[in-house]
Amino acid sequence: MSDSTLDVQATGLDEAALLARIQAPEGEGREIPDAATREIIGRAPVDGVAALDDAIARAKAAQPAWEALGHDERSALLLKAADAIDANAEGLARLLSREQGKPLGGPNARFELGACGAWLRTAATTPLEPEVIVDDGQVHAELHYRAVGVVGAIGPWNWPLMIAIWQIAPSLRMGNTVVVKPSEFTPLSVLALLSVMNDVLPPDVLIGISGDREVGARLASHPDIDKVMFTGSTATGRRIIEASAGNLARLTLELGGNDAGIVLPGTDPQAIAQDLFWGAFINTGQTCAALKRLYVHDSIYDEVVDALAGVAEQMPMGNGLDEGNVLGPLQNRQQFDIVSRLVDDARAHGGRVVTGGAPASELGELFYPITLVADVADGMAIVDEEQFGPALPIIRYSDVEDAIASANRLDVGLGASVWGDQDAARAVAARIQAGTVWINSHGGVHPMIPFGGVKGSGYGLEFGVEGLKSVAVPQVVSGPGRR
Ligand code: NAD
Repeated sequence: MSDSTLDVQATGLDEAALLARIQAPEGEGREIPDAATREIIGRAPVDGVAALDDAIARAKAAQPAWEALGHDERSALLLKAADAIDANAEGLARLLSREQGKPLGGPNARFELGACGAWLRTAATTPLEPEVIVDDGQVHAELHYRAVGVVGAIGPWNWPLMIAIWQIAPSLRMGNTVVVKPSEFTPLSVLALLSVMNDVLPPDVLIGISGDREVGARLASHPDIDKVMFTGSTATGRRIIEASAGNLARLTLELGGNDAGIVLPGTDPQAIAQDLFWGAFINTGQTCAALKRLYVHDSIYDEVVDALAGVAEQMPMGNGLDEGNVLGPLQNRQQFDIVSRLVDDARAHGGRVVTGGAPASELGELFYPITLVADVADGMAIVDEEQFGPALPIIRYSDVEDAIASANRLDVGLGASVWGDQDAARAVAARIQAGTVWINSHGGVHPMIPFGGVKGSGYGLEFGVEGLKSVAVPQVVSGPGRR
């Protein structure tokens, strides 16, 4: 690392300087639009399979020395990488805001950069000691966690930086090297993040490959990939499982969800409205573990719908670079079309649109307002399919047994939430099929609390000690007992 790099990091690179580092030469690559204005931000390199093969070969060659550094040195370097991210956070947040669409303020772009630092530091400093399994005088057996080798990290477009860090941080910490394949919708901000981290990391331990879906497929099936960390749709997750039959790569799969929330009778609608809102609409609803179908007891149904509408009407939506906005556009046309279709279908089948319900074209091409759809039922597309956007179906129930059955009836189980009296809510939570059940909140994650799905939402855990183990291979060292 040169002295000039240090100077630049102290002041932080702005968006243009970050772009200059990573974008494809003039006339090459693919143009990436600003999600809000649709103006071209820059050109992402489009790497092919040959570049990917080269990246994996370099990562494989770099891995033994990286592992041999030991935990303390790797941790120190990862803490420096976290400092480098912090120093460049504003430039990265602006690039992220433009490419992904999420505003700078609110629980959005700056918040995402803050989470990158927090997860990286936690992964760098969380101890993972060998476990003594048997020590009976005859046998002394220990369970150690060794590096897996080369990790392939494949991510989505909704929280592209935070999810990349979720995959990268524990992998590097455990002595693996990593090849990252960002979503083709949000490559620039991820490549910029890697570039900043690579100012302080040794060569080839962290390599970004900006390619299309075929490059993702090749990464998952490559014979020299030992572990795949994947976050994305259930459909792609299935393909990655198939690919792993060839290379026997270990998998962590964070897939789609359709999280239910259940509001119990006796709950004060005003007291929960704000948290319900952000549970459903953080990142304008484009969040894996967002509240995607809300079941409300008949006795307070109208009050909860009104309270949510009241919160929704106060939340400014618009260009993410305008301070004050807390909601942005859909990231891409495909997702915009899914949301529009599901709302239109709900209306056609008798759903009552309480607020929103038609594109907010005055804000730009991909803006869709916060939409609450009441008087809907299980079986309607807006309830059964993942909307991944700013539309929430609100379903009335009168027997909590029915609400639990509804929550469990789909083939996904990422998160869920129960709202109301703590004890009653915990009793309901125990019966819900989901990787996480939140009580009186929805979607909050913590770098030490394991996170992962069940059923079609995938398998494997991220974060905390469990997350470190998931990017390691267990090795038993067993010998004669020590007296
Ligand atoms: P996607 O599955 O379309 O794409 C994800 C990534 O996989 C992209 O980088 C893509 O290029 C790559 N890819 C495509 N085909 C591939 C293949 N055959 N092999 C390997 N890689 C391939 O998902 P998306 O649309 O970017 O993301 C939205 C989905 O992700 C939603 O369903 C959402 O619920 C889910 N998600 C889940 C979590 C979680 O933690 N569980 C978090 C965020 C998003």
